Amino acid sequence: MNTQQLLAFLDESPVNYLAISAMERRLKEHGYKCLDARERFLQAEPGDKFYVTKNGSALFAFHIGRQRIDDGGFHLICAHSDSPTFRIKPDAEIIGGHGMVRLNVELYGGAIMSTWFDRPLSLAGRVVLRSEDPMHPEVRLLHIKRPLLTIPNLAIHFNRQVNDGVKLSKQKDMLPVLGLVTKELEWNGMLLNVIADELGADFTDILDFDLYLYDTTPACRVGVHNEFISAGRLDDLSMVHAGLTALLNTSQDIPQTTSVLAIFDNEETGSQTKQGAGSPFLASLIERLVIVQGGVPNDFFRAVENAFMISADNAHAWHPNYSEKYDPVLHPMLGGGPVVKYNASQKYASDAESAAVFMQLCQQVGVPCQRFVNHSDVAGGSTLGNILAGSLPLRGVDMGNPILGMHSIRELGAAFDHEAVIKVFEQFYRVR
Ligand code: ZN
Repeated sequence: MNTQQLLAFLDESPVNYLAISAMERRLKEHGYKCLDARERFLQAEPGDKFYVTKNGSALFAFHIGRQRIDDGGFHLICAHSDSPTFRIKPDAEIIGGHGMVRLNVELYGGAIMSTWFDRPLSLAGRVVLRSEDPMHPEVRLLHIKRPLLTIPNLAIHFNRQVNDGVKLSKQKDMLPVLGLVTKELEWNGMLLNVIADELGADFTDILDFDLYLYDTTPACRVGVHNEFISAGRLDDLSMVHAGLTALLNTSQDIPQTTSVLAIFDNEETGSQTKQGAGSPFLASLIERLVIVQGGVPNDFFRAVENAFMISADNAHAWHPNYSEKYDPVLHPMLGGGPVVKYNASQKYASDAESAAVFMQLCQQVGVPCQRFVNHSDVAGGSTLGNILAGSLPLRGVDMGNPILGMHSIRELGAAFDHEAVIKVFEQFYRVR
């Protein structure tokens, strides 16, 4: 059930902006009100449900608990809305000598580029249109659902070594083909025409856009028992969906401790943006809530000390073809349950105490918990938890569901893990 909903959420969310909009729709259906961060917050009473967005690509949802935030802290689940992809550059069209039009793109995040070849791709993101008010142009979301582009591979006959490994240039090899300029149809801004058509807007009103490539192939179940999930953007939209589902499933009853779901943008490029985990935005929201509940500015620090964070970002599952890449003892399995991540250099926030909190939550709902450490000669990745510590020094754990093929255009997860982690997150939002 939850897994079917995850597949629908992934298909609705080809990029960060669309993922946030898909979240907003679900939050509103469950009685969450959208607050504008430019307005003064007037109240935060037990049972109040609201959310705030930042840049249209990050979202912060709150379900206010019975205890004041400074006295009881808050239970925070955070995850990220962005995934590796290719961004369309301005003035992107490159017209070849024979009328073949390609788009100029640049890499966003650490994609496995070879997985983007020979796929039916399309465009999604946001388009900015002329308005009456120069300080506030009109922003429209764009999700072109039909296959529009593809990045064709080079035939093996021109590169006999292709199966021995190929070095790819982001600028030369990865440009998608958009179409052919025919003799009858003179070129007159092919991309802008497609966008204008899709939005029902005037071509000349388009000022700029933040548009990205995505794979139009829908998310699906795979495996003899349908045990796997094959989809783009499992990292980290599967954890976004799990956090959101847990928040909505627990929103009928007023919790003791305030529930917070924070979905940051730009994790894949280092989080140092106004809508990323390196920004003080979430801390500023917490501070405003503390004050509106009658606290003094100093009480913000009590709220932080009383809080707990689950930083949810996918973990590496054990790959049967590459066992030498993994720690000799600990290698989480697909379908083995959520994974706590540890790192001696503190790339992850987990420590023995915070990990124990998470393990106890798992035990309470009968969910198995796995643990991940890097092979000691492999550097590994980092995530949200410790970046957030710069503005919110929270007690917390880094965890995530195991997946294979992280940062491929399609990643592989397990349905069991998705159902299991939602139970743990629900328990986290329910406990005192
Ligand atoms: Zn991630």
